Amino acid sequence: MPRRHELSADRRRPLLLFALGLVLVLVCAALVIRAVGGGDGGPASGRAIGASAPGTETDQAPSPPPLPLAGRTVVLDPGHNRDNAQHLAEIGRPVDAGGFEKACNTTGTATADGLPEATINWKLALALQDRLEALGATVPLTRDADAGWGPCIDERGRAGNGVGADLLLSLHADGAAAGAHGFHVIQPGLLPGWTDDIQADSARAALAVRDELVAAGLSPATYLGRDGIDERTDLGTLNHSDVPAVMLEAGNLGNPADAALLTAPAGRGIVADALAEAVVAFVTE
Ligand SMILES: [Zn+2]
Repeated sequence: MPRRHELSADRRRPLLLFALGLVLVLVCAALVIRAVGGGDGGPASGRAIGASAPGTETDQAPSPPPLPLAGRTVVLDPGHNRDNAQHLAEIGRPVDAGGFEKACNTTGTATADGLPEATINWKLALALQDRLEALGATVPLTRDADAGWGPCIDERGRAGNGVGADLLLSLHADGAAAGAHGFHVIQPGLLPGWTDDIQADSARAALAVRDELVAAGLSPATYLGRDGIDERTDLGTLNHSDVPAVMLEAGNLGNPADAALLTAPAGRGIVADALAEAVVAFVTE
């Protein structure tokens, strides 16, 4: 009795033809399905077909990892405004600074060459905004121009509160004796009812900023603070914040080396790079 697989040549031929026909039909069906886009099952399939060679899997490539600051909001406060000195009445108006009154704003300091601190703060903020946005963050500024006079310290301090900010970073530069140099980061001290909710996280942010600036080669201030960190309860910008807040004095504009660093775009770029690293470290640690 012949075993089942030992079919005669005559009986095998139609089977072979049938198999070949079936393969041909399946291949044709597959090509038709691809051509009409049904095989990808969605509106993106049109783009995928146009972008990929037949048979490739490029439309299934894994998406890139999310940006480190995706979904984060960082409010930058470029301190003062360029023309505050021409608006002394406006900026002299008293405002609440955290249970006590202070002037709406001050003129800020300037380099020996007369470049206002406000302009340095503004340019540093724009450089940092570029970097943070490239990392995925939303980055509102507390003022929209360098010219004129801007918001008072209480308004600047509240700028992160309504937008669910992860951090409020106020950018300044100091004006001290020529022999003093270096940066310092100011964190809010304890002011019951005002800063108790943000003090610990703000201190953590201050450390991140200090560490990244040191890593970038900048020197902590030689003339105040401790290892680049100072703590104050008299700053309306910090006291009014309900989100972690720190103020950076990026250098002493009275010192020629600090002034040279902060007036050069490349120097501000070094500071902005370090601050962007600090923000990532702070929000992701
Ligand atoms: Zn300032």
